[in-house]
Amino acid sequence: METLRQRLRSIDQKGYKAYKAIEGTYRFPMFTLAIDHVQGDPFAEPSKVRVIVPRAKTALAAEWTNTKPRRVRCEDVLARRIHHALRQWPLRARGSGKSGLVLIDAPGQKVLERTAVQVADETITVCLSVGLPANGRRILAKEAEAIFFEQIPSVIERAVYGLREEDIRPAVELADQQHAIRRYLREHGLVAFVKNGAILPRESGVSDKPLQRGAVPFQSPPELEIAIPVPHRAEPIKGMGIRKGITLIVGGGYHGKSTLLQALEHGVYDHIAGDGREFVITDSGAVKIRAEDGRSVASVDISPLIGALPYGKETTQFSTENASGSTSQAASMIEMIEAGASAFLIDEDTSATNLLIRDARMQALVAKEAEPITPYIDKARQLFRDYGISTVLVVGGLGDYLDIADCVIKMEQYVPFDVTGEAKRIAAEMPSGRKAEGGESFGRIHERIPLPESLNSQKGKKAKAVARGRHVIQYGQTDLLLYALEQLVDDSQTRAIAAALLYMERKGWLDGKKTIRQLLDAIEEQWDRQGLGSVSFRKGNPGELARPRRFELAAALNRLRTLRCRQ
Ligand code: ADP
Ligand code: MG
Repeated sequence: METLRQRLRSIDQKGYKAYKAIEGTYRFPMFTLAIDHVQGDPFAEPSKVRVIVPRAKTALAAEWTNTKPRRVRCEDVLARRIHHALRQWPLRARGSGKSGLVLIDAPGQKVLERTAVQVADETITVCLSVGLPANGRRILAKEAEAIFFEQIPSVIERAVYGLREEDIRPAVELADQQHAIRRYLREHGLVAFVKNGAILPRESGVSDKPLQRGAVPFQSPPELEIAIPVPHRAEPIKGMGIRKGITLIVGGGYHGKSTLLQALEHGVYDHIAGDGREFVITDSGAVKIRAEDGRSVASVDISPLIGALPYGKETTQFSTENASGSTSQAASMIEMIEAGASAFLIDEDTSATNLLIRDARMQALVAKEAEPITPYIDKARQLFRDYGISTVLVVGGLGDYLDIADCVIKMEQYVPFDVTGEAKRIAAEMPSGRKAEGGESFGRIHERIPLPESLNSQKGKKAKAVARGRHVIQYGQTDLLLYALEQLVDDSQTRAIAAALLYMERKGWLDGKKTIRQLLDAIEEQWDRQGLGSVSFRKGNPGELARPRRFELAAALNRLRTLRCRQ
């Protein structure tokens, strides 16, 4: 500790580069401080430090972290507390650039496995970013001293040592309950659950926080209501269960269809207490599928949905730099089957109409032979039968879908009704006149093997794989665009995807033999066994990572413009 003080004093007023001298590990009374990486100048990415606290001196007893969901929850609680404590500290502008900033990669409404706080058997490791203070480019050592000797100790004292059992218990109990519901869904043939009283609408289109005023709480239709027993409370939790199979969400415009579907999309992740969606739980294999014209596609067999294109362009190994609405959506479907999805969440609003439907009149006007597309309405059932993949589909205008639905939920003034019986009656009384075009089976999925040259992060002499916000990864010579991934919910997930791509490249995982599915399995196993930070090449400090699902990682890989595959 005194070494750090001396080192700081000896570099006061020197040029910024002299800060390099403080890299190292220092013992403080309450913790160990590791200064892993010092930034090159005051405007660069802040410096990376770790604070390692002996767990024995905190309230975090072993029982609070005896399962994976519990451990992740405790890490989440600590990260939020540290973030809060850091914000209490007067955020003075102590000089130029990022001088004086002390940040933790704070979670939002969701609880994700992240590297910001890591609880192990003996230690709690906290990763912080510190903007080392300077005036212009001249080191302000006194200000740096205040950060390391006052601010960080006081924040750790308050947020980590000040943690009490009452702070942990409710969060861990919620984690246990959410976990129990996830297991219940798997064991009872359900895709999703929405608790009575849940608040689904968000504050705005760009906020993940609940709508504060005028939100109509969710109330299950009696026909679809189930009760799920959960730990830590006597009464089971009641709400709407969505069964496997094909479910439609119908209703007039602006009556809350997309809001329900979006809540289901986000329900693959756990939410914090007070979010309104803490008991909106969706099978973690549920994937949003949407149109995304302009994306690239690499050797995907989309023939189950789209047959030979004009001028004989085959679709068994379909590649393009610029997909259309329907081909992009078809490719995403096949890619997500390949990645192991359990359900597709689809909204008419963001779909290519011609991939969803060809009605009787179009069938009469345009012969099947002249239409490459087999619409999803003729494949959804086969998809469920052959691959066990359910569909939850929002439709406002496409009534032909009533023919294939197992369950129809109507949203009316934000209230759901079970109209399955009525829908079946209408379908029988008013036949669509369509001919089914889908055949007996969905069709084979050809798993792809990415070729080694697919991953090339070289830009000039340097490797480059950097996340720029949530939806862009600068990867080598190209920008990888992730705007269409609605279930990518945290910038730190994007960083983890960038790190995983770089990791697979450096480790030579793309050997021309492993399929995409095997690569996804391998990364997940690595994260499970070695930890999320193990894909990071930063020495000692894993940086700010949150765990993405395999589907978002697959989606990123599939959108790499350098991806080359064989089947
Ligand atoms: P649809 O997809 O049926 O056209 P949306 O789901 O987009 O409708 O909802 C329309 C508007 O209503 C949105 O602004 C949304 O935030 C709001 N909304 C949705 N559900 C509720 C609710 N339960 N309570 C209050 N407002 C809601
Ligand atoms: Mg809508």
